[in-house]
Amino acid sequence: MKKAGIIGSGIAGLASAIHLARKGYKVQVFEQAPTYGGKLGVAHIGNYRFDLGPSLFTMPHFVEELLDAELLKKFQVIRLKTLCHYFYDHLEKPFIASGEIDKFIQEAAEYFEENPENIQKFLKKAKELYNITAPVFLENSLHKLSTYTSKTGRKGIANLWRIDMFNSMNSALEKQFNNPQLIQLFNRYATYNGSNPYKAPATLNVIPHLEFFYGAYLPIKGMRNIADIVYEQALKLGVEFYFDTTINGAEINSKHRITKLVSNKNEVFDLDMCIANIDVKLLYRQVLKAPIPKRIENAENSSSALIFYWGIKQKFPELDVHNILFSNNYKEEFEAIFDRKSLQNDPTVYINITSKQIPTDAPSYGENWFVMINAAHDTGQYTPEYLEEVRDRIIKKINGVLKVDVASLIEVEDILQPVTIASRTGSDKGSLYGSSSNNRMSAFFRQSNYSSQFKNLYFCGGSVHPGGGIPLCLLGAGILNKIIPNADS
Ligand SMILES: Cc1cc2nc3c(=O)[nH]c(=O)nc-3n(C[C@H](O)[C@H](O)[C@H](O)COP(=O)(O)OP(=O)(O)OC[C@H]3O[C@@H](n4cnc5c(N)ncnc54)[C@H](O)[C@@H]3O)c2cc1C
Repeated sequence: MKKAGIIGSGIAGLASAIHLARKGYKVQVFEQAPTYGGKLGVAHIGNYRFDLGPSLFTMPHFVEELLDAELLKKFQVIRLKTLCHYFYDHLEKPFIASGEIDKFIQEAAEYFEENPENIQKFLKKAKELYNITAPVFLENSLHKLSTYTSKTGRKGIANLWRIDMFNSMNSALEKQFNNPQLIQLFNRYATYNGSNPYKAPATLNVIPHLEFFYGAYLPIKGMRNIADIVYEQALKLGVEFYFDTTINGAEINSKHRITKLVSNKNEVFDLDMCIANIDVKLLYRQVLKAPIPKRIENAENSSSALIFYWGIKQKFPELDVHNILFSNNYKEEFEAIFDRKSLQNDPTVYINITSKQIPTDAPSYGENWFVMINAAHDTGQYTPEYLEEVRDRIIKKINGVLKVDVASLIEVEDILQPVTIASRTGSDKGSLYGSSSNNRMSAFFRQSNYSSQFKNLYFCGGSVHPGGGIPLCLLGAGILNKIIPNADS
């Protein structure tokens, strides 16, 4: 039986394990941590449960497609009626973004005093962008000729002039809308893949389509349940997991094939095929011990994040599952993150509260707050004093908007910062999504899903094509499913 070895059990590694097991491979997954899931971690602190990483879930059908009938029944998700509560310092009431597209358009037009037709046109354009880009940029390998010669690929290529690659997201939005707060709301979607809306191509204005058309979801057992269910499916298919097993070497034969993986415990694993689900830079440094290709080395990292997990001993009816307390100077915020690699003066604060939908995530009197700001990747700046300063600025922002003394309400606390994101999951400098999309060529510079240097090496996960975030990681695993032959062929 042909053996496939997968390094890393992030969501893309787990999904790839399922695809390969179904293709007839004996699949072994090697994971440095004591458990599966990578960034989709979970923690219980006191009486509160926290998802440690992703909080926003779109396109659940990519998870559902991996599951057999029994597990599909077990995996239950709620479609959120409200996408987000947006707070602006100078406006008394938050904007409540409905998950129903027509309601959103009508309410946004009233709140932001915009022409509803402009909003409708923008969302229509986002859909069009998705239809053009998905077959070329998301569902297939960008680096295989067949992507461009297939019928859908040819159609996509013919329409590429319509994808607005030469404008930035922000400049396209400024042409579309008059209200700066509505522009800020749509600019925020750049952060869904760790990019800067003032630099990223307007093609990324496709992202709102995913939320408005496919919806925002929460699994009824929390985000960690996505990893749980996919892991359970992999186990059912006979995939073997080796936890606490860091792969730190490989043997490569004269035909440029990886024949063995070597662990930190000096275990040696034979294989016919290797799938890397770890950050591509880490793979070159730690496993292959080979130079990182220049286009990957030089690509700008995506942003990272600082997250405070706070058990809050009070309920806040004005908050929902997703809440944004916007910065007054959004441009300065992105300059701080990407140019100065420093702390923004007035950070946009995101508060995610799963206990709004999953009451058991917090005691009856409280709420589990996941409080996050976007942050620069690690360049050595995250000293204890720096983290204290971040905490103070976040608290100041929340106090100002919600008119509370939030520090006095924190019952339990933990923090995740770029340095720990890097050490726990192997992400280069703690970046959440591999390289950023701040350049219109970024998609082409990202590592393809297969290696041209090592014949039996394939890639999946947030740092490679088509990029980070759960849906794209699952699409990446889907591309492997298309390009890797069955074990018996
Ligand atoms: C704070 C935060 C918030 C986020 N928010 C969202 C969100 O709201 N929505 C969304 O869709 N996405 C979000 N993301 C991004 C999303 O979590 C990732 O894109 C996705 O989970 C990455 O999955 P992956 O398959 O690349 O693997 P990863 O999750 O990166 O896992 C890689 C695995 O490889 C293991 N590993 C590393 N090196 C080795 C080695 N040498 N040997 C063995 N194992 C190794 C690691 O321990 C890890 O388990 C967020 C991420 C973070 C951190």
